[in-house]
Amino acid sequence: MVLKACTNCMYLSEEDTCPLCAGETTRDWQGFVIILDYSRSQIAEKMGFEHNGKYALKVR
Ligand SMILES: [Zn+2]
Repeated sequence: MVLKACTNCMYLSEEDTCPLCAGETTRDWQGFVIILDYSRSQIAEKMGFEHNGKYALKVR
């Protein structure tokens, strides 16, 4: 399984286009967080994540 990060919203998926925002995805990313409940997550709030799932911390 190869995870790719959205260059727009940093969401991680296996798709060539982001399932959340239809942005371009890249394999060139580092680190990730798993958001289980974005409405209660301080990281999600800080990073602007508005869905549950895996997000890259750094996307080039
Ligand atoms: Zn996206």
